[in-house]
Amino acid sequence: MTHLSSTGSSKFYGYKGKILRLDLTNKKAVKMEPSPELVRNFISARGFGAKILWDEMKPGTDPLSPESKVVISWSPLTGTTAQSFHRVFVVFKSPLTGGYFRSVGGGFFAAEMKFAGYDGIIIEGRAEKPTYVWIHDDEVEFRDATHVWGMTIDGTTEFLRDETDKEARLLGIGPAGERLVRFACLVTDDYRTPGRGGGGAVWGAKNLKAIIVKASSREVELFNPDAFDKLVEEQTNVYMKSPLFESFNKFGTGGVTYNFYTLGHNPTYNFKQIELENIEVFKTEVQEKYIVKHTGCYGCKISCGKKWKLTKGPYAGYVWDFPEYETQWSFGSTCGVTNLEAILVANNICDRYGVDTISAGAAIAFAMELYEKGIITEKETDGLKLRWGDGDVVVELVRKIALREGIGNILAEGTKRAAEIIGRGAEKYAMHAKALELPAYDPRAAKAHGLSYATSNIGGSHMIGWNHYEILGVPKKVDPFTTEGKGELAKRVQDFIAGYESAGFCAFGGLVTVGYYNDEDKMFELISGLLYAATGIEEFKNPKYLWLVGERIYNLERAFNAREGFTRKDDWVPERIQKVPVPRPPAKGQIFELDKLLDDYYKARGWDIKTGIPTRRKLEEIGLKQVADELEKLGKLPS
Ligand code: SF4
Repeated sequence: MTHLSSTGSSKFYGYKGKILRLDLTNKKAVKMEPSPELVRNFISARGFGAKILWDEMKPGTDPLSPESKVVISWSPLTGTTAQSFHRVFVVFKSPLTGGYFRSVGGGFFAAEMKFAGYDGIIIEGRAEKPTYVWIHDDEVEFRDATHVWGMTIDGTTEFLRDETDKEARLLGIGPAGERLVRFACLVTDDYRTPGRGGGGAVWGAKNLKAIIVKASSREVELFNPDAFDKLVEEQTNVYMKSPLFESFNKFGTGGVTYNFYTLGHNPTYNFKQIELENIEVFKTEVQEKYIVKHTGCYGCKISCGKKWKLTKGPYAGYVWDFPEYETQWSFGSTCGVTNLEAILVANNICDRYGVDTISAGAAIAFAMELYEKGIITEKETDGLKLRWGDGDVVVELVRKIALREGIGNILAEGTKRAAEIIGRGAEKYAMHAKALELPAYDPRAAKAHGLSYATSNIGGSHMIGWNHYEILGVPKKVDPFTTEGKGELAKRVQDFIAGYESAGFCAFGGLVTVGYYNDEDKMFELISGLLYAATGIEEFKNPKYLWLVGERIYNLERAFNAREGFTRKDDWVPERIQKVPVPRPPAKGQIFELDKLLDDYYKARGWDIKTGIPTRRKLEEIGLKQVADELEKLGKLPS
């Protein structure tokens, strides 16, 4: 057991003043103080992750090697009474994309770690054998996990709570992470997942099964508690009055599935976008019948989680976390499946085995299209008929992916690599950007949103630039089909999200808030007020500062990828999206004009148009001179 020196050394209110470095190779736990520059320039959460990974991870590092690192962090607002700031941000180099990755989940883990006395964790090295880390305030212990290796998250949580504390909170991996499924995820004890990009495989390669934590206090010291309380009251009022609160609270993200289909999203049949018969089953009045409980993360009144109960058919008896919108799509519409019960069971396997539902479903839709085209046959599918619409086949394929069995072993590599392995023209049907499977929006039906898929530093993610202008019409409606002004709009939303994620805020909390104010600056006013009242740091007082930090983070993430060799050629979406017009309304006839949109975007960003890499001028303007110097040294800075 390692005993760390006493807590309370924080220089700033709100923070605990300690980041825990876990060296798995040497079973050493060391605390370090986050430097004032790190705190002031990057705030916390995604900002900490981006900066520490840039500083500590050498370019060219194999993400599955002992040299790779994982940074986990949260916010000075985590564990306070502020709503929806208790997220866990996980930053690493992805074994799926080969680039920078940031993955986010909810639950209670981040708050418990904060109460235990930490602002973040850096994981490095590789344990000799399966290991879990038990954290109880200052005590950090590396323990043998051989007996739970091979277990699902539910079993692991039960066993490790028995060995530590019944109320401890856990972040861990399931069998998929152990088997290095390239899109294996991390899962909390309450099945919230930093889901995308393969963080679970990075932990698996490090022989790290779980981190489990219990704190003995519940305190966070604030700079101005009275001002803070008033702002929390305002935030709560905003939530209660927001027009978006009720839908999230009643149905969770699944409430939008049918509506988004009518907007041209929820793309069907591996983005072929043919009309999906029986799409009505995704309407809220059908979903409502399954809901038996509302659940949420620490300190969040939105409570967007739902438990569904299945009472009939082959899956009767299941009670599990409902499939989110993305999962209703990934195991549903994109596979032509409208069997909600099979979708729930596929989700259950992913949560327990630790698999990203988006990538898994997208990989299955890809395999179904290859089967339809005769590129693969039953000889290669272990005898399964991969017919569109067969929910039972989806369930079986998810299990095979999680355990790397048969065809599942190939799909577990992700669609890009799977297509390369299969060959015979399969590449054409792999729907990804930078090897990350595209999620549940069609770039052809929302051009700024699609531009964020193409340019995202983590690949085809909806969370990096979810375009509330195009999709929800807030703060104002923007024509989703036009290309005009979309470079600037994509940049604005990416920086906005990176800005509030530097404070550890939840995207759904963000939508509920911006939906109320109809004004992003007003939302930043609230967040910067909370940050200042919590920490007393002068810079955080100014809402404009969040925009600057957002842009700084986004550029640093870009620089990380540039250092790894990414350029304009990697800002890409598949040929189907670029060339094949959408066949169904309302986006009928639309294609995605990649080159035109990219030029516009790089201009808006102040990046080099030829390479898509930030210029020295831009980097210096936002306080990243040293980053420019390093890129120049490596010959990566545009001339
Ligand atoms: S909105 Fe949902 S995901 Fe976000 S913090 Fe609240 S309960 Fe968690």
